[in-house]
Amino acid sequence: MSADFLVLCPFGLDVGLLTKATELAGETPVRVLVQTWEAEQAATFGAKLIHTLPDGCSVADEAQFAAWLAEKIPQWGSTVVLAPATVQLRGVMPLLAACLQAGLTADCTALTMDGDRLIQTRPAFGNSLMADIRTVSPVQLATVRPGTFRPLPRPVQDPVITPETPTPDRRVRQLEFLPFTQGTPLSQASVIVAGGAGVGSREGFEKLETLARKLGGALAASRNAVDAGFAPYRCQVGITGVTVCPDVYIAVGISGAVQHLSGMSGAKTVIAVNSDPKAPIFDYADYGIVGDWEAVIDQVLEELS
Ligand SMILES: Cc1cc2nc3c(=O)[nH]c(=O)nc-3n(C[C@H](O)[C@H](O)[C@H](O)COP(=O)(O)OP(=O)(O)OC[C@H]3O[C@@H](n4cnc5c(N)ncnc54)[C@H](O)[C@@H]3O)c2cc1C
Repeated sequence: MSADFLVLCPFGLDVGLLTKATELAGETPVRVLVQTWEAEQAATFGAKLIHTLPDGCSVADEAQFAAWLAEKIPQWGSTVVLAPATVQLRGVMPLLAACLQAGLTADCTALTMDGDRLIQTRPAFGNSLMADIRTVSPVQLATVRPGTFRPLPRPVQDPVITPETPTPDRRVRQLEFLPFTQGTPLSQASVIVAGGAGVGSREGFEKLETLARKLGGALAASRNAVDAGFAPYRCQVGITGVTVCPDVYIAVGISGAVQHLSGMSGAKTVIAVNSDPKAPIFDYADYGIVGDWEAVIDQVLEELS
């Protein structure tokens, strides 16, 4: 028996998540909820049944939005509901799970199917192991960290577009939503320059940021670098940070701990710079440079300018 997928992206389309849903759904059409301006893009990434919310529609009352979804989902016949683990949907999904009496697995890092059951993989027990979770309720809910799956466009197949009008918020009003504006968000960057404890200082990270900017990419960091105050938490890649899948990931002064690797294992090409030839990151890297990070990065910056 196949599952009916619904991908909830009312606050911004997650093309990677939609790609994964389309892959798991096989021949069954994938349903998506997006704002009207994203309908065309949703079709490009495999959505067949597209429900649209008016552009700019903000859903500030999470409980009310969850109740509206709980009414729609049985009508649509969706049995697997996926959503990106964004700030807003992290609030909506537990409420929706309660309304539907359904199981919810948050922050999945991998998804597979076993018949009509979704196998949801996520870190467990203080991130010491990866658990495969099977939900037993008829409707299965999961959130996935943005950037976990690589987007793959598909040929468009006559999508069916249905405008939706959820009831306006009564109790809560959204005055303003300030999106992240400082350069490319990590989860969308195609080039990432990531620094570790080996970089040794905030000034060192400023140099890495210069390189990231010259390459049109974003700056990232290991947890030890963040803990040392060299970079802000929003830069942290790994099991307790952001998950990324860039084309190129340049790991500078990073040892290659499993908790870090799990956040960047989707990178296409990994280049490592480390002074220790035995650093575990070299087992993982496509290209490795053994040497002092600053000497190497200075040389690269000089080449680029
Ligand atoms: C529950 C839990 C969750 C965690 N979550 C995360 C997470 O989300 N992300 C994460 O990154 N970590 C996480 N960690 C921590 C993780 O286990 C590692 O401790 C951390 O990733 C190591 O960071 P690092 O590679 O920067 O530092 P280190 O392991 O100290 O490595 C520094 C590296 O720099 C190299 N180096 C030193 N000097 C130079 C130089 N001059 N030039 C070049 N190279 C140099 C060294 O050879 C070394 O390989 C977590 C740990 C736990 C227990």
